[in-house]
Amino acid sequence: MSDCVFCQIIAGELPVTWIHQGERCVAFMDIRPLTTGHVLVVAKEHAESFPDVSSDTAAEMMRVAHELDGALRASGLRCEGVNMLLADGVAAGQEVLHVHMHVFPAYRNDGFALKFPPEFGRLPQRPELEDAANLIRSALSDRR
Ligand SMILES: [Zn+2]
Repeated sequence: MSDCVFCQIIAGELPVTWIHQGERCVAFMDIRPLTTGHVLVVAKEHAESFPDVSSDTAAEMMRVAHELDGALRASGLRCEGVNMLLADGVAAGQEVLHVHMHVFPAYRNDGFALKFPPEFGRLPQRPELEDAANLIRSALSDRR
């Protein structure tokens, strides 16, 4: 038995409230919802980090999240908007180390917020943007 809680859920070893069971990902209700209607979209393959799942799995996760966004808005649950959050890595706030995306209703004064760093709002000079972009483009071309 895996010690990964999401692998245990996918294997049917733990109780869960299903929303979707697909070829490459599943979706079920989060037991600690940020707002009512909070759904987790979870890769079926065990991988800690998003780049470690196949591009087909990543695409299916986004397709399911896209469908859930529309479903949440049409569900009758309080839902004035939808948040989608994939925390990739402990530093990003990932708690269960198995790739998953949070999809949950948003509404005015729902209590959920992103905390921005103190330097947020400072506009970087163009060369600073170019330097960062060069590093990203280089890494991207290495992955393709
Ligand atoms: Zn797992």
